[in-house]
Amino acid sequence: MPSRFSTGRFTSTGPRHNAYEAVNALFDNAADRLNMDPQLRSILKTPFREVTVAVPVRMDSGKIHVYAGYRVQHNGARGPWKGGIRYHPEVDLDEVRALASLMTWKTALLDVPFGGAKGGVSCDPMNMSQIELERLTRKFTARISIVLGPQRDVPAPDMGTDGKVMSWMMDEYSSRRGYAPAVVTGKPLSLGGSKGRLAATGRGVVTIADSYYSAIGESIKGKTCAVQGYGNVGSFTAKFWSERGGKVVAITDVKGGVYNKAGLDIAALEKFFAEKRTVAGFPGAEPMNNQDLFGLEVDCLIPAALGDVITSSNANNIKAKLVVEGANHPTQPDADEDLHERGIVVIPDILANAGGVTVSYFEWTQNLTSFYWDEDKVNKELEIKMRRAFLDVHELARKEKCSYRTAAFMLAIRRVAEAEEQRGN
Ligand code: NAD
Repeated sequence: MPSRFSTGRFTSTGPRHNAYEAVNALFDNAADRLNMDPQLRSILKTPFREVTVAVPVRMDSGKIHVYAGYRVQHNGARGPWKGGIRYHPEVDLDEVRALASLMTWKTALLDVPFGGAKGGVSCDPMNMSQIELERLTRKFTARISIVLGPQRDVPAPDMGTDGKVMSWMMDEYSSRRGYAPAVVTGKPLSLGGSKGRLAATGRGVVTIADSYYSAIGESIKGKTCAVQGYGNVGSFTAKFWSERGGKVVAITDVKGGVYNKAGLDIAALEKFFAEKRTVAGFPGAEPMNNQDLFGLEVDCLIPAALGDVITSSNANNIKAKLVVEGANHPTQPDADEDLHERGIVVIPDILANAGGVTVSYFEWTQNLTSFYWDEDKVNKELEIKMRRAFLDVHELARKEKCSYRTAAFMLAIRRVAEAEEQRGN
């Protein structure tokens, strides 16, 4: 499987904008349609708790570097806060706030009993040794552990972190509070991880695309797609798309990309990647860059790398009829409107990439009960939850004559608002 630490330095391809403001604008748009009372609106928009910590790490050189770490707990009305930890040079408080808010709406939309949170450390994991990463993770965990816990706040992997990082977090937390596998999800199987978790987000992305095609009387079979990113989400998305009889014609990663009109041989690409740690240079394919990938004549475009990659400058070049957001917040608001006006269907991140948090919920449940499921059960339950969420969104979008994104936010906000009101103030 692709390693999450081996794909090179990340650089955003879109102009930097305030993701938190953009997510709040999506919230306001849906809250307007729900005629939401201004007081409830401000409760739901404001993060419950924001923790910023200094993370001093002794580097292999012997020098100490102080990193900035964040954990934002956005809303916990429906259950413990839940959300990934990102290690990336561009992590800042506003980005973490935006991603925490998206987690609130994602968990509500999938109807898993969690709130929304996100965390991150502004660092470059590509240029750190394993031991530096371990020291960083342990120090960060120690400093935020006061707000974590299986019934309080449960982190998971995100960009730049993986099962190994979750193992260190679990160990650090458990050494203070006693053995607590349910304090993080996305762990290796040997530490109480769930079967099916690694592939869950990509599996969910393809299940959602398939649900959309079923709803319009079509199927993935024979459909072409282009995927940006070949990390956890992108690699499994490509695999399941081709397993369902679709053709993955292009993939890019941070080091380059590949294109083959007849469809890439995904099984061979997996082997190539395992050795080279990039898709660039894969034999039997032409080179491809991000700009060209976004403009390809494909049935479906799947951004599965960075945020803010579909912008007002490249949206008008997109020719795909369907965009399925594997990444978090890949589409800037202006671009989203542009795509909507051009009749390009966008399936939003909070629905499309929710497979990961759904299986994280299964993992947490298994940890709390100490009773472990086989992979078939995990995949079946995931499929049921994803298809149900898609149909809820699809029906509301039809009824309201609005985009899938607006419908998804409306459904999610309604659920959180109800819980918030019932808990009282
Ligand atoms: P990852 O670290 O495993 O992979 C990221 C991929 O993006 C790599 O292939 C990398 O090479 C590529 N990339 C980086 N910069 C790029 C560039 N400029 N051009 C093209 N490709 C580039 O990360 P991941 O876990 O796969 O997450 C990807 C996205 O999906 C993120 O937005 C993340 O928040 C979101 N997401 C992940 C999960 C999950 O379970 N892992 C769940 C929900 C959402």
